[in-house]
Amino acid sequence: MSKNYDIAIVGGGNAGLNLAKRLTQSNAPNKIIVIEPIAAINKQANWCSWHNEESLKKNSSSIKGIWDKWRIIDQNNVIEHSSLHYKYACIDAAKYLSEIENFLIARDVEILRDKVQLISAKDNKKEIICESTTINATHVYDSRPPEIKENSLKQHFYGIEIELESGVKNHESVTLMDFRADQRSGLHFIYALPFNDSRIFVESTVISENIKPKSWYKKMIIQWLENQNLTYKTIISEENGVISQVLQDNRHAKIHQIGSRGGATRLASGYAFHNINNQIKLLSENIDANNYNVPDVMSNFLINMDLIFNRVLINNPSLSVDLFIKMAKSLSGDQFSEFMLNKANFKIWCKVIMRMPKTPFLKESIKIFLD
Ligand SMILES: Cc1cc2nc3c(=O)[nH]c(=O)nc-3n(C[C@H](O)[C@H](O)[C@H](O)COP(=O)(O)OP(=O)(O)OC[C@H]3O[C@@H](n4cnc5c(N)ncnc54)[C@H](O)[C@@H]3O)c2cc1C
Repeated sequence: MSKNYDIAIVGGGNAGLNLAKRLTQSNAPNKIIVIEPIAAINKQANWCSWHNEESLKKNSSSIKGIWDKWRIIDQNNVIEHSSLHYKYACIDAAKYLSEIENFLIARDVEILRDKVQLISAKDNKKEIICESTTINATHVYDSRPPEIKENSLKQHFYGIEIELESGVKNHESVTLMDFRADQRSGLHFIYALPFNDSRIFVESTVISENIKPKSWYKKMIIQWLENQNLTYKTIISEENGVISQVLQDNRHAKIHQIGSRGGATRLASGYAFHNINNQIKLLSENIDANNYNVPDVMSNFLINMDLIFNRVLINNPSLSVDLFIKMAKSLSGDQFSEFMLNKANFKIWCKVIMRMPKTPFLKESIKIFLD
């Protein structure tokens, strides 16, 4: 026999678990269920972003590393930023999600370890068919990862956390993008988080339409380590992922969509952490006021600017590295952090736009306007 709930949350990642947590703290008399096949402790990932003091404090128990500086590098430039108001920090996803999961378990929120196969809307109820059971709910929030289409723009990556034989020279600074890497398969950069002088996370990231085999990224990482005169002793963990850089159009979806599936990932950067938390905060406020719709967290202006940027990248590969270098050069550390956190004001946008090559941007803007 199927069970009935007021709210069913499909997927217990950052969006799903945070929504469940906020609902337990709200006034709404909601009977909630979270359907998630994997326990939080098994979700190994590094979630990084810029954080202000308040956010660092709030997430302190799951923060794995904090850095004052970050660098963007190509053959001719090393641009190093630091900010008065923001630091770059890495959250241990398994720890962060486990804390929320334990909070929910302590409050008797039901977490069903199952995989959803189908969600259908029937009159005012939604039916969720899982592998082992069926759930009925008045409202469903779906946070399963969005579908990644084969020939679409994506950010794909593979990284390893390693113990080194030799020490890292500069472990105060994160390498956000080191473009001194093979550029033949798309825009490619190495990302490195030095946790201390003997432990580093190194990732090879490509922005293109086609995913590479794991061995390819690994070869790129090893090449980069050799160029830095770093030799690794042991691989502690690995991480890989694919983030769609295509707009998630949810305007006609019958089922509410949240998190990355609900358009909370920044299209030009792949960063999602703060957008998701903001989306869930606003949604739970809506639910408290009896409005079950998911609010937009990104303005149309921001979405369109990111779409234009991505199209310039894909259609002008020879300009790609230079675009990031010019953007980084045009901004101070504070401005760069605000730009990445969707907090850029008019002045910051003007600075970025002024440094961009005008013809390809104008061409792609017109194409998007006509679409
Ligand atoms: C490896 C990786 C690293 C990332 N690093 C960063 C970063 O550093 N900074 C940043 O801002 N963003 C990062 N991102 C973007 C990332 O997508 C978000 O930060 C965040 O994890 C998305 O949260 P979410 O809740 O939308 O989705 P997810 O966290 O992906 O949660 C979706 C959940 O749905 C569950 N699920 C899947 N299928 C089913 C099913 N059939 N039935 C039920 N449940 C299902 C999954 O198990 C998962 O727990 C990263 C993404 C990946 C993949």
